[in-house]
Amino acid sequence: MKTLFTNATFWSSGSPVLSSMLIENEKIIAVGQKAIEQKHDEVVDLDGAFVMPAFADGHAHPLFAGREMLGPQVNGLQSVGEIVAEVARFAKANPDEEWIIGGAYEAAIIEQGDFDAHWLDDAVSDRPVVLHAVDHHTIWVNSKALELSGITAATKNPEGGTIARREDGSPRGTLREPTAIGLVTDKAPKRTIKNEVQALVLACDALLEVGITSAVDAWIEPGMAEVYIEAAKAGKLSVDMSLCFLAVAGQWEENVDYHKELRAQIEALPKSANLEATTIKFLLDGALSSGTAALMDPYLDDPTTSGLLMWEEDDLLNALCIFDDLDFQVHLHAIGDAAVRQGLDAIEAMQRVNPRRDRRPVIAHAQLIHPDDFPRFARLGVIANYQPLWTYLDPMNKELILPRLGQERNNRQYPLRTMLDAGVMICYGSDWPVTSHVPLQALAVPVHRQSPDGYPKEGWSKQEAITIEESMTFYTANVAFQLFKEKQNGKLELGKKADFIVLDYNPLEVDPHKVSSIKILSVYKDGVPQKSAS
Ligand SMILES: [Zn+2]
Repeated sequence: MKTLFTNATFWSSGSPVLSSMLIENEKIIAVGQKAIEQKHDEVVDLDGAFVMPAFADGHAHPLFAGREMLGPQVNGLQSVGEIVAEVARFAKANPDEEWIIGGAYEAAIIEQGDFDAHWLDDAVSDRPVVLHAVDHHTIWVNSKALELSGITAATKNPEGGTIARREDGSPRGTLREPTAIGLVTDKAPKRTIKNEVQALVLACDALLEVGITSAVDAWIEPGMAEVYIEAAKAGKLSVDMSLCFLAVAGQWEENVDYHKELRAQIEALPKSANLEATTIKFLLDGALSSGTAALMDPYLDDPTTSGLLMWEEDDLLNALCIFDDLDFQVHLHAIGDAAVRQGLDAIEAMQRVNPRRDRRPVIAHAQLIHPDDFPRFARLGVIANYQPLWTYLDPMNKELILPRLGQERNNRQYPLRTMLDAGVMICYGSDWPVTSHVPLQALAVPVHRQSPDGYPKEGWSKQEAITIEESMTFYTANVAFQLFKEKQNGKLELGKKADFIVLDYNPLEVDPHKVSSIKILSVYKDGVPQKSAS
């Protein structure tokens, strides 16, 4: 079956704009004039639309996002009243759900972020409710959850965690950090595999709907790859998924064989299973908003600290060398300049020790970079994975990060132009569900360095602005490169997979502020339409 797509503008990452495209089954077999000249079985007249390769998300958390989609939809709600109403709606619609678990609520809508159990009791008092905050380090629970967990005024804060309290010492309903969170979540029923697969199906549907046909899950803890395998075997992974196993400082060695075994299991699946697992994720530091990103110079609001590096240098190098030697790709979370430096140093040392090969190490986020380190990315072949939606002065940046960094350092965040000029390969990821997964919402943000709706008026560090075409390439061809799939994906070319999207307007021609309102008319994966214009 040969289908000719015609009467559209076809864009393919810097290549000339083409007028038609011929696909056969899951592949592109001709473009431009050559497509018109060949025989075909059917014609799709695209009526002047714009066609580009489907998006690929190089850093996301689809399973976490899917789990959130199974619970009350509190994401993005801006008041306690709205959140409580949504929990009440969900509880009513799901009378058999023993525990109501959901997320992620915006903790910044309440000063200090200490939410009260009583507010949730108004929605549900007979069943436990647990909501995760967007930072994923905090939960807000109702009184029933506190009661079932045995948390009272007499309960001491566990090591490394805190229980927010009322004046009389009774637990308020907000718990922070894994040890405290565990006091509650350990009592909740374990997620069933059926439930987990259902979460993945929801996540895949959500990704396809916004034009993403391939995604990275950048946080695979023990038990999560098994869910992907189950979904893949059942033919339920409708998006190509690449998994990154999490290596934890000081504990990673115990899991080397387990990761190898899972990779082998996944490699044994048929190609149509849409699953691979060839990457190891390292968390080098925390986040700027919580003062845990590792900086070269101290935080301004607390000069006794410059954040924290999670790995000892030797342990990191050892782990990188061992996983690299096993042909795993490495993907490092590094936000502060000290973490970026540590990552580059370790990658450089690893490349000296292990034999030369095409390894494409990734540093994700790379928010703050010491000027000496810009050229090192290109020299070492390190890919920088950025979150385009983060590249403006958002309220979190202004209120939480600016006072911690000071104006000069704050303004040096997300140096996309400087990185490009230094020859660095840039890729995009959404970090969904931390932030929105919708590429068209984020695509022009690094271009105007403002929120999609134009905030703040004066923009932010505009010398770091890039072009819309660069931005489109970072969300398509460059992620294909990150995933070692540049031969199959990311461009509309002879022999590539027919993964593409049809838009109602050409992002290269509209005002960048209008890009976020462009509509997706259809999404094709492997030559099959996934979503039609409504
Ligand atoms: Zn992430």
